[in-house]
Parts: sequence; structure tokens; C-alpha cells
Amino acid sequence: MNDAIKPPTIALDSLGCKLNQAEIQQLARQLEAAGYRLVDPSEKADIYILNTCSVTHVADRKSRHLLRLARRRNPSARLIAIGCYAHRAPAELDKIEGVELVLGNDRKMNLLNLLGVPQSRQTGIAVPSGPHAVRRTRAFLKVQDGCKNFCAYCIVPFVRSSMQNVAAEKVTSLVLGLVANGYREVVLTGTEIGSYESNGVNLEGLVRRILAGTPVPRLRLSSLQPHQVTPALVGLWQDARLCPHFHLSLQSGSDTVLKRMKRRYAVTDYRKAVALIRDSVPDVAVTTDIIVGFPGETDKEFRETLDFCREVQFARIHVFPFSPRPSTEAAAMPHQVSDAVKKERSNLMLALSEESVKAFQERFIGRTLDVLWEQQSGGVWSGLTGNYIKVYARSRDVLTNLITPVRLTKLYRDGVYGEI
Ligand code: SF4
Repeated sequence: MNDAIKPPTIALDSLGCKLNQAEIQQLARQLEAAGYRLVDPSEKADIYILNTCSVTHVADRKSRHLLRLARRRNPSARLIAIGCYAHRAPAELDKIEGVELVLGNDRKMNLLNLLGVPQSRQTGIAVPSGPHAVRRTRAFLKVQDGCKNFCAYCIVPFVRSSMQNVAAEKVTSLVLGLVANGYREVVLTGTEIGSYESNGVNLEGLVRRILAGTPVPRLRLSSLQPHQVTPALVGLWQDARLCPHFHLSLQSGSDTVLKRMKRRYAVTDYRKAVALIRDSVPDVAVTTDIIVGFPGETDKEFRETLDFCREVQFARIHVFPFSPRPSTEAAAMPHQVSDAVKKERSNLMLALSEESVKAFQERFIGRTLDVLWEQQSGGVWSGLTGNYIKVYARSRDVLTNLITPVRLTKLYRDGVYGEI
């Protein structure tokens, strides 16, 4: 890029899963390396790029809203929509005023070429310096993409059908690059990282190689399914650099619903996976996702799910009211649950989640845990423990990107207050 010409400013944003965040972070690193100036999406930019999500109709609506908001911020900006919604329904996004380019998941890797970034500068690793770098002390790294499981409710196999696994050597070198550039935590993400497989290396082999081949201070895994939790995988947590946090998708605590959802485990398998994790990993946080109001979900089936969630004592439950997605099996199922019932069940599940979050956090009051500090607002710093507790503390020092021991003293806001 010619230094005499002021580079255009680009605002990047993403909705939805950690995989989308990983992709937008990688794009940020590549654009910074190519000399673009990144600004926050709340600021005026020359180009806005949104990695859209289509997992629910609410995600669709939010995607459209963010694009319209960007247009209002700068009516002459170029708007680019990429990702799952862009893949599923490009025409819907194309008709939003100002949208110049809509790239589905199969075409979005061309984005850098379309923006004129030379191949030699599409490295993916840059010295963090822009707004993303200031805020992001944790890097989301995509190691896998695509799913062919076709769970009955899920749009993902329709919008991310091509299976890709990043070779273990490449992942290791990317982690080395991230660490060299100051990142203290790397989160391995993918559509379904539990099914990672590259040249005979599975997820356990990949994690083993990263731990052996890099000095990464913290390594975290994104979502797994219960049948992917093996003694060999869990055994790796003897290395304290692996964060004691498992996000284990449950979706329903009723075997009959799980069967209709076409999930590949039963409640008993889930219970065994959690026991294995808790036996091997001290202080571990187990978090999950629950869909309420799946077609045909009876009061009894919902109660089974509530009871099971109470039994497991999750550190957090992400609650999703069922949203029929076009083309999926569940969208055409009879006995769709009414919005009123979904709302009622959602509220009950959210109340249980709030209770569980507090109970989990309270267990650590009086204990000292390491916190990776991320940002400061009004003199109060916030950061995360390895087991995903948000910690707040006051300090005059600049703590960004430091990992320090903190004594947790009381529940505070959505997390815990601590003394450094
Ligand atoms: S495993 Fe099921 S829920 Fe997860 S991405 Fe694949 S189809 Fe969707």
C-alpha cells in the first residue's frame, strides 16, 4: 500500500459463535498486516465488514440491523456482508442500501483479494496495534470448519458444508505467531472441533502438539459434544496451561427430545462425560447450551431438562428458544411450540442459569485465582480466570494482557470482585 495515500479505515464486526469471532480476528490481523487502519464498529469507517450469523431468526434480524446502522454512521461507506446469513440468503442482504458485496462461506476467503491485498501480505499474523489488538488479549483460532451431522434444528450444515481442518503443524506455527505477538490465551474454535482430523491427528493429538510445541500461556477449547470427551483428551488437562473450562453442548436433558433433535448421545452419556471431566480437572467450569421449545417438547420433557440442568450444576447455561430455520428438518415438524410457551420456558431456564452462575462463582470467594486482564473502565479492570469467571478489580497499574493472582472477595456485577 502506498504510504502517501491514507489507507481506508475498516470496521470489522461479527455476530454469533466463537468461530465467527475467530474468522473476524484473523481478518483483522491480515488487514493490519496489509496496512489498513482498523477502527471500532461504533466509529465512522470507509468500509464496514460484518461476519453475519443465521443460527436463529433473531441473528438474521441483528445482522440486518448492524448493516443498516453502519450505513447511518457513514452513508458513503462500502458495506460488506460475509458469513452464514450471507451464505443462506444473499438476496436478503443485497437489497439493504449500501451493501456492495455479499460473500457466503464458500467465497469469503476471496475477500482480501477483492480488497486488493497482495498474496504476500495475507499472512494472518501482525503485530497487534489497532483497536482490536488493544482489546483482544485472547485470540480465537479457527482449526476446523464444516459439519455434516445435520442435527434436526441446525442451519450450519447448510451454510458450512465443506469440511476443512487446518493441519496440526500449521496450527502450531499459528499459535507460535500469536504468542510472539503478545497474545496470552488462544481459544481453538471450529464448527465442531471435537471432530477435528488432519493427517491422522485428532483433537487430542492437536492439543498435545500445541502444548509440546509452543509456550502458549493459556489454551482453551470451544464447544465439544459428550461423546468427544475421552479419558485421553481429558488427561491432557494435567498441563495447567489448559483452561479448566469445558463447553459441552447439551441442548436438551430429555432423551426423547435428543432423539428427535438427532443428537448422538443420551442423557446418561452426558452425565458420564461430566463425571470424567470433574474427576480429572479441579475447579473446572462446565457450561452448556439449551434449546427450549423444540417441536413437540412437552411440559414433562421440559421438566426433565430443568431437573437434569439442576443436577449437573452448570457454571452457565446459554438458553436459546427454538427458532425454525429454513430447510431444516425441525422447521417442518408438527407440534411447533407456541411463542408464549417458549418464552415461559426460556425464563425458567434463564432463572436456573442465573442461580447456577452465582453458586459456581460463590465457590471461589476467598480463593486466589489467576486472572488474564483485558480492559479497564472507570478505574475498574476486568479479566477472566481460566475457569471463565469474570473478575473485576481496582488498580492504578496498567494490567492489560497481564496474568496476575487475585484474591476473590465477593460477587460483583456479572462476576466476582477481587483484590490484586
Ligand atoms: S453438530 Fe449439530 S448443532 Fe453442531 S454444527 Fe453440526 S449440525 Fe449444528
